[in-house]
This record gives sequence, C-alpha cells and structure tokens, in this order.
Amino acid sequence: MRVTIVGAGIAGLSTAWSLAKLGHDITLIEQGSIPNPLAASGDRHRMIRRAYGDADGYARNMAEAFDSWDLLWNDLGVSHYANCGVLGISQFAGDGADGFRAGLDRMAFDYERLEPDEAARRYPFLDPATFRYAYLDHEGGALFSERIARDMKAWLKMRGADIRTHTKVLSVDPHTASVRLDDNSFLRADRLVVTAGAWTLQLFPALAETLMTFRNAVAYMEPPADLEEAWVNAPAILDIGGASDGYVIPPLDGLGLKFGAGIHKVHALDPEADRTAAPGEGDSIRRLFAPPLRRLGDYTVSEVKTCMYTFTADSRFFSKRIGNTLVVSACSGHGYKFGAAIGRRVAHALESDEDAMLARWLKAEMV
Ligand SMILES: Cc1cc2nc3c(=O)[nH]c(=O)nc-3n(C[C@H](O)[C@H](O)[C@H](O)COP(=O)(O)OP(=O)(O)OC[C@H]3O[C@@H](n4cnc5c(N)ncnc54)[C@H](O)[C@@H]3O)c2cc1C
Repeated sequence: MRVTIVGAGIAGLSTAWSLAKLGHDITLIEQGSIPNPLAASGDRHRMIRRAYGDADGYARNMAEAFDSWDLLWNDLGVSHYANCGVLGISQFAGDGADGFRAGLDRMAFDYERLEPDEAARRYPFLDPATFRYAYLDHEGGALFSERIARDMKAWLKMRGADIRTHTKVLSVDPHTASVRLDDNSFLRADRLVVTAGAWTLQLFPALAETLMTFRNAVAYMEPPADLEEAWVNAPAILDIGGASDGYVIPPLDGLGLKFGAGIHKVHALDPEADRTAAPGEGDSIRRLFAPPLRRLGDYTVSEVKTCMYTFTADSRFFSKRIGNTLVVSACSGHGYKFGAAIGRRVAHALESDEDAMLARWLKAEMV
C-alpha cells in the first residue's frame, strides 16, 4: 500500500515506523524540520507515567505503551527513556495529585507513600510544611523526544521511506488520498494519514467542532548550585498538587530542568501566532511552583519554549476516517507517552479497515 502521512510529530513518525515494518511504501511530509521545534512533540522531553486519575482506560493502556517503546528501542538500537520514577505531591484533599494517587490505588499499581519530612529529606527542593503527602511510582520517567525524532527519521530513511521536510501540505482530498503541496504539485496514494497536531484545523476546518487548539509554554530553569545534585537525581513530578496542574521534568542527561503547568494554557486559533515567549512569562510559570518547592527565588529561567496543542472536550484522543483518509489527533496534553503504540494501532487500522476499533482504543474505551 502507498501511504502518505502529513505531519512528522510522534504520531506521524510512529505511524511511518509501523507501516514501514509491515512493508508499505511511505511518504512522510513535514512542514518544518524533524524534530520541528514548533510541534507538540518538538521539545527535549515528555513524561511517561502510569497514574491516570479517573481515566482508568488510559492507565490500562500503559502496558501497551511501554511495550511499544521497547519495540522501537529495539529497532533503533538505543533507548531514549529514562526510568527515573514519577512523584506526586498532594497539597489538599481532592487536588490533581490526590486524584492521580487514587487512580494508582484503583489500578492496584504499586507506589511508595512518603510523609512530608521523608519526601523533603530525599528531595531537598521541597518545602515539607506545604503538602500533606507525596508518593513515588518507580515505573515511568521521561522520554527524550527530540532524540527519538532524530533517530526515527534516520531509521525511516534507512528503510527507504520518502521523507520530505520543509514541505507544507496546503490542502487534501480525503477521498482520493491526495495532497497539494506548497510547490503546487500533487501527490496521490492509496491511503492518507493526517497527524498534523495543532495545524489539523487548517486542513479540516469542520473538525473545529471536536478539536480546540491551545497555546502553552514551558520554562527551563537553573536551580541554585546547592540543589543541582538533588534535581539531577530526582524523579519526574507528575503533579505538584494545588490548583496549577504543575509538573516538572528533572535535568536528565543534561537536557535541562523543565517546569510546565496546565493552568498556563490559553485558547488560540493560529498555531504560529505568539510563538515568542512574552516578557516575564518564565517568571510567571516559576511562581506557580511555590508551594511546594522552596527557594524558588533562587532559580533562574534559562529558556521559555512555547507550544501549541489540540484538546477534545473530554481530553480523549481522536481519530476520524474520511474517505481514504484517517485523521488522528492524539494529544489533549498527554499523548506523547502513547506515541509508539499509536503508530502501531494506526498501521493496524489501515491494514484491517478497523477504524472504529482504533477510535475506541484512542478514547481508551476498550476493556
Ligand atoms: C507543553 C506540553 C507538554 C506535554 N507534556 C506531555 C507529557 O509530559 N507526556 C505526554 O505523554 N504528552 C505530553 N504532551 C502531549 C504530547 O506532546 C502530544 O500528545 C504529542 O506530541 C502530539 O504529537 P502529534 O504527532 O499528534 O502532533 P505534533 O507533535 O504537533 O506533530 C504535528 C506535526 O505535523 C506537522 N504539520 C502540521 N500541518 C502540516 C502540513 N499542512 N504540512 C506538513 N506538515 C504539517 C507539524 O509541523 C508537526 O511537526 C504535552 C504537550 C505539550 C504541548
């Protein structure tokens, strides 16, 4: 089968990887570079964790997510996963971290519960007076997304895939599986897969009923010198508790200490607008982290990176078959960890025509 894939974020790259392994003829089109720093997948790292709050279906799918990454590492000959563990910190009953912990309990996933003094002894950047408890899941950590993209691109090239970077698809005809490129040429295949992230609505404006785009930013930080080592050895922090949806990825393998927060996101229509951080934006992200972090005034912001992503109303992933085209949007702020699994599922749906099953799996509705 000849398959054109529009968009080389983790969903498009993984779909290309899975289809190439099945012997299909792939053309992968990316408007920027691979990785593209403007894409949702185009950052240094993304978290992978088992805790999923009340979304038990996604927690259940995590075994498949981990297995699929293992298959990828095997093909790439290198792993880009740091199993540093995942920490949750609850500031008040019913906050996000408390909900994630309740999900771990329901799934009977093991974790270590830490009283505040013990947590602050292990992780001296925490202020023990500001939270009720913490918990450590030893499974999970961070995926090195830029490295993954570079290696997947090289692997695909080696397998003979036609990879076209800096090439924008201007429009698609979903029924004939053809695309019009920015040099006004057309490309036709047997099937088309659109994994265009925050740009999906440019190609399929009618999907605005289902997909909303948001802008967010993450701040890379330099901690004070005496806390550097504590951070280097820290787990990823899934949720700092309270109301900010704040998370932290430690500076693994020299890739930088990153703070991000769900509360910082704003609705935005144009995926290319406001891509330069606003003055003081890094400091306003930093302020969201006290409590439970102490001495935040001693941290300096080294870089602020903006990002655009899509959400559905219920934060589930989405796919839709239109003619000979599959549109896939696996984001809602939590899709990266499923990247390799998504590619395998999309490839299977293309081969078997079982689009309904793909849609259910993406929504985590399969039992
Ligand atoms: C700040 C932030 C933090 C996140 N944290 C996590 C996390 O910790 N863990 C987790 O699991 N998930 C996380 N996510 C979600 C995760 O990053 C996304 O689910 C995932 O990266 C989406 O990948 P994608 O391939 O669908 O989209 P994207 O990565 O956005 O890729 C789409 C690609 O399509 C290209 N493209 C678009 N239109 C065209 C066109 N017309 N022609 C050619 N190319 C085109 C784009 O340039 C882009 O490269 C986070 C997201 C953000 C923004």
